[in-house]
Amino acid sequence: MRHLSNKSFQTRAVHAGERVLPADFRPVATPIWNTVGYLYESMDDLDAVFDHRKAGHVYLRYSNPTVEAFENAVASLENAEAAQAYSSGMAAIHAALLAAGVRAGAFVVAALDVYGATFTLLQDLFSSLGVHVRMVDVADHAEVESALRETGASVLYVESISNPLLKIADVPALAALARNSGALLLVDNTFASPCLLNPVEHGADYVIHSATKYLSGHGDVLAGIVATSASNRKKLLELNKLIGGVLGPFEAWLALRGLKTLPLRMRQQCDNAQRVAEWLRSHPRIEKVHYPGLPDHPQHALARQLFRGKGFGGVLSFEIDGGNKDRVFRFMESLSICLPATTLGDVYSLILHPMTSSHRSLTAEERARVGISDGLVRLSTGIESADDIIADLESALNRI
Ligand code: PLP
Repeated sequence: MRHLSNKSFQTRAVHAGERVLPADFRPVATPIWNTVGYLYESMDDLDAVFDHRKAGHVYLRYSNPTVEAFENAVASLENAEAAQAYSSGMAAIHAALLAAGVRAGAFVVAALDVYGATFTLLQDLFSSLGVHVRMVDVADHAEVESALRETGASVLYVESISNPLLKIADVPALAALARNSGALLLVDNTFASPCLLNPVEHGADYVIHSATKYLSGHGDVLAGIVATSASNRKKLLELNKLIGGVLGPFEAWLALRGLKTLPLRMRQQCDNAQRVAEWLRSHPRIEKVHYPGLPDHPQHALARQLFRGKGFGGVLSFEIDGGNKDRVFRFMESLSICLPATTLGDVYSLILHPMTSSHRSLTAEERARVGISDGLVRLSTGIESADDIIADLESALNRI
């Protein structure tokens, strides 16, 4: 601070106390590096960092130590070489599609029952930019294969567990189909989380997460991340320098903090979802329960094999008898533990009506094609006691 001792009050107000880093101790928890720029001993050092000849950071849109810590943690949990974080899951999906080479004239083959905004991103935005999109039932491998062959698609896009119908993508088989036809496989692994599945190990090229959900887990941060190879990550980074949908250091810090309890939360959430699904299945007012942990789920055996006995996820959906919007709304308003909020994967149990929220941007015909009925309800089980969640559902069902 001595260099400031003869400086004016005004100058000291700007510089005093700043840029003093401890040389002989390190923080246990990664701090929030809220800085846009970085200083180096020499301009040559800065030049080398710009050039990737030397490790470091130059500008917040390019990288940041807190964000990098979160990226490295997710890469490790996904058994991927690297990861790139984003300001939202949608920004991550958009970036992965661009990094995979999706441009005007390209074809994308995508799962029909993807998250509503992903559906609209592909069907409306990318289509309007000259990208051709074909939506298929990814459980029908013959349909996927012929769509890839007929279109010469550059990308196959799936969700490992689909939103909101909980269909399972056979990632190893789909990776082989994609590889054989020269397409890259993009997997949105948000619902499964790296606890249940590491798509990279099965041949996926880009693994996407809405880190807003299980990775962060507490409903207080919007974030996205793509786990991939080191060479693909370079493409993502170069794109992000231009597009700028970066994650802020504070959000990265929250996400990194959330990640530490991911396995503990996920275990409880999977157990709760299983208990609730079994209970709902025997309830007279429930017409259908979609949950891969139920033996009558069409892909129960596949889920058991892919998720290696670690659970079947923390999300289920179900259809209330005589299902219509008003009946579902009255049911949701009667709940007190399960919160009617438009998200999932939190420590809280969250309930949502896909027709009027996550899949609101789809037309009635599109929803019918995907299989989203007016009476469909999606429940993301939190880490509360399963008995309390069930009691809450029971009393709300009794009231409609
Ligand atoms: N992918 C899935 C499966 C989702 O459920 C969501 C959001 O609900 C997203 C992506 C988009 O994530 P975000 O809201 O973080 O942009």
